[in-house]
Amino acid sequence: SREVHLVARPSGEPVPADFALVETALPDPGPGQVLVRNDWISVDPYMRGRMNDAESYVAPYRLDEAMEGGAVGTVIASGDDAVPVGASVLHSLGWRDHALLPAGAFRVVDTAAAPAQAYLNALGMIGFTAYVGLTEIAPVREGDVVFVSGAAGAVGSLAGQIARRLGASRVVGSAGGPEKKRRLVEEFGYDAAIDYREGRLEEQLALAAPDGIDVYFDNVGGDHLRAAIAAARTHGRIALCGAISQYNATGPVPGPDNLFLAVGRRLSLRGFIVGDHAPLMGEYARRAAGWLAEGDLRAEETVVEGIDNAVTAFLDMMRGANTGKMLVRLPG
Ligand code: NDP
Repeated sequence: SREVHLVARPSGEPVPADFALVETALPDPGPGQVLVRNDWISVDPYMRGRMNDAESYVAPYRLDEAMEGGAVGTVIASGDDAVPVGASVLHSLGWRDHALLPAGAFRVVDTAAAPAQAYLNALGMIGFTAYVGLTEIAPVREGDVVFVSGAAGAVGSLAGQIARRLGASRVVGSAGGPEKKRRLVEEFGYDAAIDYREGRLEEQLALAAPDGIDVYFDNVGGDHLRAAIAAARTHGRIALCGAISQYNATGPVPGPDNLFLAVGRRLSLRGFIVGDHAPLMGEYARRAAGWLAEGDLRAEETVVEGIDNAVTAFLDMMRGANTGKMLVRLPG
């Protein structure tokens, strides 16, 4: 079996030499444990933060150990009578071919209801992040104009569609490059799209949302947050979900220099971590399953093959190679 270790803490953008693919022996499951062959592993922006030795809401990865992350796999040996061989399980020991999981460290998922990888995307943490942001953190109300950054990515491509389902009258998305800009409108249902690399974000946003915005779902931070504050209407709400433009920063980053506008416009800006909102997951799972069944939610994925390409998948995702969720598929 093989697993990906972090062997050096990156400074700035991670490089392949910060990681190593390491051979390990396959253990036998003890009582209550299951041995899983991973079928899909997730690479996510928050993992960049865990590569730093810094205090955060999740512990740093330890050097010379397998990294962790979301994964779905198939049970190949079971020490738990309730979990048969062949069951699909969602768990947090990604970045490896096989995982030995104790009782309570996994959830059996129904792959008859949805493909296994959906639990790493629309039916899992990704879709739920979009939903929490647009319901509890910066609630979308009927008729709102909603702006989403990172709009062609995993969370962002779902956030635009969910905003619409929640009653938004106009949804504007921002992503990098002309191809993503096209897909925002043609595939993800955005009314208008911005290619932030074309420059002049504030002017582009003013054109895309001439009457301003009520809700901003921030995946990017920096200039995007500044532009959203500039465009916000009175009582506007901003969900601070992520700031990927700053994750590789090695020094101070520019903040929005127009925060004073939040006073006069009575804006609320609120950060959140999806894991704190678990009680809402059942409600989301029901609604998302319904939207998927009705064809009202398009969940895109970009798939990279093989554990030996997992690091590349992560690095490429951080640079924008993905549309929708970046996933690594492991051979069965
Ligand atoms: P994505 O699928 O959106 O992948 C990351 C994307 O970020 C890339 O595709 C790229 O798209 C974009 N990007 C990279 N660098 C920049 C930059 N400098 N400026 C603008 N965009 C950039 O990842 P996720 O959907 O998994 O995550 C999106 C955000 O949500 C992240 O900030 C993440 O940390 C956050 N998050 C927060 C959670 C929470 O609980 N608060 C939970 C899950 C995610 P492009 O080609 O458009 O540049």
